[in-house]
Amino acid sequence: MRFRRFILWVFCLCLCSSISFSYVALRHFVNSGDTIETICRIYQLPVSVFLDWNRSGSPLKLSPGMVVTIPFPSGYVYRVAEGNSLSWISCSFFADLNAIAAANGLKFPYTLRIGQEIFIPYGEIGRKFYSEPGKLLWPVYGEISSLYGNRVHPITGLKAFHAGVDIAAPEGSPIFASASGTVSHAGENGGYGIMIEIADATQKYRYGHLSALCVTVGQNVKRGEVIGRVGSTGDSTGPHLHFEIRNQKNETLDPLSQLPNIKNIYPKH
Ligand SMILES: [Zn+2]
Repeated sequence: MRFRRFILWVFCLCLCSSISFSYVALRHFVNSGDTIETICRIYQLPVSVFLDWNRSGSPLKLSPGMVVTIPFPSGYVYRVAEGNSLSWISCSFFADLNAIAAANGLKFPYTLRIGQEIFIPYGEIGRKFYSEPGKLLWPVYGEISSLYGNRVHPITGLKAFHAGVDIAAPEGSPIFASASGTVSHAGENGGYGIMIEIADATQKYRYGHLSALCVTVGQNVKRGEVIGRVGSTGDSTGPHLHFEIRNQKNETLDPLSQLPNIKNIYPKH
C-alpha cells in the first residue's frame, strides 16, 4: 500500500498536468487490455469518480493510446458559476462547508471567482445527507420546480401527465443515487435527454436531462454515489433533474411519497 502511494506521488510529480492546492490531475495512457475497472483498481479510484473526470454525454469507450485523467486524491471538481457561494457548493455535495474550505485553502469570507475549481474530496461527499428510515435520498440539492401528476407541459403548452418530479439546480450540480441498484440505461433516451436508469429488486429510478454521466450500464451503484451532473438535455427549458420511479408493472409512482420532506434535506445556506 505504502509503495503504491509512493509510486502515485512520483507519477504526480513527473506527469501531472495541473497542480492546485488541493489535488493533482495526472494522465494515464490507455494500454491494450486496460478496462475502466483495471485502471480504477490501479489508482484506487471509485468508478464514478473516474467517469466523472473523463465524462461525456455518451458512454466512455477506452481505446489504446487514449489519454485519461486521474485525480489524486480521489474527489470531484465543481467549476464556480455566477451566483455560486462556497456555502451553496458545499450544500450541493451534501458536504461540510469548513471541510471544503480547508480542502481548498480558502479563508472566510470565501471569495470565489467564476470558473474557479473547487475540489470536493471523496470522503467529504454525503456527510450531510438527510436520511429517514425507509425513505430514499434526495438525488440533487435544489428546489422543486414541477410536481408529479397532471400539469401544463412547459414546451407544448398542452395538458400532460408529468411522470416524475423536477428539481431545479444549476448546470453541473452533482446527482446522487437515491437508492442502490444496477444501472440499466446510461445515455440518450428521447425527451429524457441523457438519462440514467437504475433498477433494484422492486423499482426503477430514472434520472433525466443530464449534462454528463458518471456510470455505465451494468454497474452496481450504491445509494449516495454521484451518478451524473445536472443539465438540460432532451425536452427541457432549463437545467433541472427529472426524477421518476417505476414499479415492476412499469407504472410511475409519485417520488415525493418516497423521499424525505424537502424542507429537511439541508439547512438553508
Ligand atoms: Zn420532469
